Amino acid sequence: MADKSYYDTLGVSKTASADELKSAYRRLAKQYHPDLFAGKPDAEKKQAEEKFKEINHAYDVLSDPQKRAAYDQYGSENGPQGFGGGAGGFGGFGGGAGGFGLDMDDIINSFFGGFGGGGRSQSSRANAPQNGKDIGIRMTISFEEAVFGVEKVVNIKRVENCPDCKGSGAKDGAFKTCPTCGGSGTVTQTQRTPFGQFQTSAVCPNCKGKGKIVTDPCPTCKGQGRMEKTREVKINIPAGIDNGQRITYNNEGHAGKNGGMNGSLVVEISVTPHKIFKRNGADVMVEYPLTVAEAALGITISVPTLSGKPEELKIPEGTQSGTMFKIKGKGIKKLRTKNDYGDLYVKVVVEVPKSLTREQKDLLKRLEESFEMKQFPKKKEFKEKQ
Ligand SMILES: [Zn+2]
Ligand SMILES: [Zn+2]
Repeated sequence: MADKSYYDTLGVSKTASADELKSAYRRLAKQYHPDLFAGKPDAEKKQAEEKFKEINHAYDVLSDPQKRAAYDQYGSENGPQGFGGGAGGFGGFGGGAGGFGLDMDDIINSFFGGFGGGGRSQSSRANAPQNGKDIGIRMTISFEEAVFGVEKVVNIKRVENCPDCKGSGAKDGAFKTCPTCGGSGTVTQTQRTPFGQFQTSAVCPNCKGKGKIVTDPCPTCKGQGRMEKTREVKINIPAGIDNGQRITYNNEGHAGKNGGMNGSLVVEISVTPHKIFKRNGADVMVEYPLTVAEAALGITISVPTLSGKPEELKIPEGTQSGTMFKIKGKGIKKLRTKNDYGDLYVKVVVEVPKSLTREQKDLLKRLEESFEMKQFPKKKEFKEKQ
C-alpha cells in the first residue's frame, strides 16, 4: 500500500481543520470536474475522472470524524485490519511454507506490535488477488508447559475456498459474461455533488466487478466459492517460550481470494506464574528461607529445580540474608537452541524467629552478650559513620 495518503490527495496537512479540508476539496473538485474534460481526449478524460474519484473518496473519509480517526490510526477508514491493527508487524513472510512444519527462525516473534499485513486488500478491483486475513488466538499455558514445550490442539473457524469449485462458485466452471456490464466489471453511474450531476464509473452491482456471473452454482458452497470451516490445528509450543510471545503458522489463516495468499494463524502465548519459581528470560529464581542459625553456621540445602530433581547447594557460614547463589545451567532451555540453558538463581532469605519462649529469649540474650562488635562489620561501620 504505497499509495499516497488521503491528505496528500487533497494537498493538506495531517492536522488540517474541517474548513481547510472543505476548501481544498472544493478547489480540486472544480479543477478535475468531469464536465471540464468533456471534449478532451479519452486518456485525459479518464485521468481526470480517476483523480476526481480519488478526491471525492479522500474527502468522504477525512470529512467524517470517525472515519478520519480510524484512518489516522490504522491507515484505513475501515479500522484495524486482521487482528489488532497497525500495518508493519509481520513483514515479508513468504508464501510457500504452509503445513504445520515449524521453522523456529521464522515463526517465533517476541515483538509486541499489532498484527497487521495479511488482511489488506491489494486492489479495489473485485477480481484482483486478495490475501486472506490473519487469525489471532490467545493461548494460556502453565509455567511448566512453557519450560518444557507442549503440543496443543485448537479448533479454529476460518474461511476456506470451496474444494469442489476451487473458490470460483461455479459448478464445472460454468460462467457467462455479465449482461449488466458486458464483462467490463464497471457500470456508468450518475452522481450528485455540490457541483451538479456527472457521470462516473462504478463497480458493477450485478457481478461485483468480476465481469462474469455463475450460471450453474456449485452445490457444495451454494455458489459462494468460500465457506466457513472449523479446523483442528496442532500447535507445537517450543520449550522456552515466554509470556507474550507469538507463534505464526503461515497459510493457516483465512483463505485468500482470486489466488491471493492465505492469511496466517497467529498464536499468542500467555504463561501462568509458578508458585515458587520466578522467570527472567531463560533464568529462573527461587527464594529459599534460612533460619538465623542456618545462615550463621552454614548448611547444605536441597534446592527444588524445574526438572523436579533437587540440587544440593552449600551455604557457607556467615551468609547474609538476600545473598544470591547461582546454579549454572539449571534454568530454562533457550528458544532456538539445542542445549543451551539459563541458570537457576537461589536467593536465601534469613527468617527471624517469632513468638520466642521465655527460655529461648534468655538463651538469645546470653548469646547476644557473648558477641563482639567485630563480628558485625556492617553494624560497626554504621556506628562509626554516625
Ligand atoms: Zn464450491
Ligand atoms: Zn457486471
